[in-house]
Amino acid sequence: MDTPTVKPARVVIVGAGIAGPTLALLLKQKGYFPVVVEKVRDMGNVGIALSIHPNGMKVLNRAGLALDVVNGPPSSPPTLAWDDYTNTGEFLGGPASSLLAGFIDRYGWPVIGVTRTRLQTLLIDKCRQSGIPVHTGWRLASWDEVGDGIVARAEDGRELHADFIVGTDGLRSRTREILLQKRGVEVQEPMFTGIVVRGGQTPTPAAFDTPAIRIYYGATTTVISHTLEDGMSVWGLNYFEKTPVKESWSTVLAEDLQKEIDLTLEKLEGWAKPVREMVSKTTKMMSIGLYDRPELPVEQWYYGRGIVVGDAAHPTTPHVGQGANQGLVDAWHLSQLLPSCDEQSAKSLDRAELETIFHNLAAVRQGPTAMIVERSREQGKLRVVTDKSPGAKERRDDLIRSFWRDQDTFNQIHDMLYNEPFEDKEGFAKMMRQRQE
Ligand SMILES: Cc1cc2nc3c(=O)[nH]c(=O)nc-3n(C[C@H](O)[C@H](O)[C@H](O)COP(=O)(O)OP(=O)(O)OC[C@H]3O[C@@H](n4cnc5c(N)ncnc54)[C@H](O)[C@@H]3O)c2cc1C
Repeated sequence: MDTPTVKPARVVIVGAGIAGPTLALLLKQKGYFPVVVEKVRDMGNVGIALSIHPNGMKVLNRAGLALDVVNGPPSSPPTLAWDDYTNTGEFLGGPASSLLAGFIDRYGWPVIGVTRTRLQTLLIDKCRQSGIPVHTGWRLASWDEVGDGIVARAEDGRELHADFIVGTDGLRSRTREILLQKRGVEVQEPMFTGIVVRGGQTPTPAAFDTPAIRIYYGATTTVISHTLEDGMSVWGLNYFEKTPVKESWSTVLAEDLQKEIDLTLEKLEGWAKPVREMVSKTTKMMSIGLYDRPELPVEQWYYGRGIVVGDAAHPTTPHVGQGANQGLVDAWHLSQLLPSCDEQSAKSLDRAELETIFHNLAAVRQGPTAMIVERSREQGKLRVVTDKSPGAKERRDDLIRSFWRDQDTFNQIHDMLYNEPFEDKEGFAKMMRQRQE
């Protein structure tokens, strides 16, 4: 039976973060004409880093980017271990050191640490090389359905016409706001979780001989580090703050860097040597408040010819490292649910058909993403302990030790995440073989 196709359709994708350009690349492969719009004019040097997990790596590979991410230059080695310690360096993890190395066998792909700027640049460059326009300095003000399509309007009055619109515009998504207004749903502000991450990029300490995720648990705060490209690591201090702190990706100005390093070191008095070394050698730094939102019911992910995915639909805190990865999984599923385009096809994508596809996407993705947002919030409470009662730290440390002893639960959680969005057990090995040929 022939797979039904439609005439080549145009799509406006709002936001050139992680999910947006990836979706554009996947849809281009299916014959669509995507256009990506991004409010920031110069994407420059934003944010610090991301851990891309096996689920996200599989999608990046299908979008044609995994080799560039892994192989560089600069190259990002597979992350082989995940070790938990107390702040003074006592090992809390059980069989931790072998866990991440096993991901390549179990899921076909490793965890990779990558600087955010590099991933975003790779994605945008790949879009442009593939003939996908990326308009930066184009901030979505409104969108409406007109005739058999949509019109998206920028704040400066520019307009784009397309068959449908996908909002990948993150935590404070304007696409989502408009969509909910069209549905008559009250628009809520994101919720500050009370946790702030002060983090930086730094040369990897000599003591860190294996590319790894390392977490150091203090009495009330936590430092997480992850190996990145070419001898660099990222560290992040998670701490409590009563007053909401902005979720800005801007980095500290060069002239303020030393002052910020010193302030951070004051908070880390007595912590393990590699932690203090990472902070003291920081080359780039930022602070960001962590926000999420209550889950969006399935029907509110879309309206007519518009849908939101990624953080625009389900923003999450980063404690389980899944925000960007889930955006990539959304992009994959949406690209698979949409029909292929064919010049010979006489059929256009109609509104009812789009709404059915959007509903199906939301129905598949709402449950897992809502669970991850919740799980991440819970994980945050282990990292930033606000309980001041005696023994709170020890109880938390015991809980972490017990997690590590329960290998079955670990495997179950990871199977659920990393068998998504499709199986690709040979993927990484195949990619590396092709690179050598
Ligand atoms: C400290 C920290 C660490 C994190 N670490 C990880 C990690 O290790 N792994 C992981 O998977 N996730 C991590 N996350 C989460 C991850 O950053 C997000 O989930 C991910 O960036 C979401 O991708 P997205 O494409 O949906 O949105 P975003 O990456 O937020 O991109 C949205 C884009 O839309 C643009 N935009 C917004 N409004 C408009 C508008 N009106 N018009 C046009 N453009 C607009 C924005 O400028 C932005 O470029 C972390 C988050 C934080 C805060």
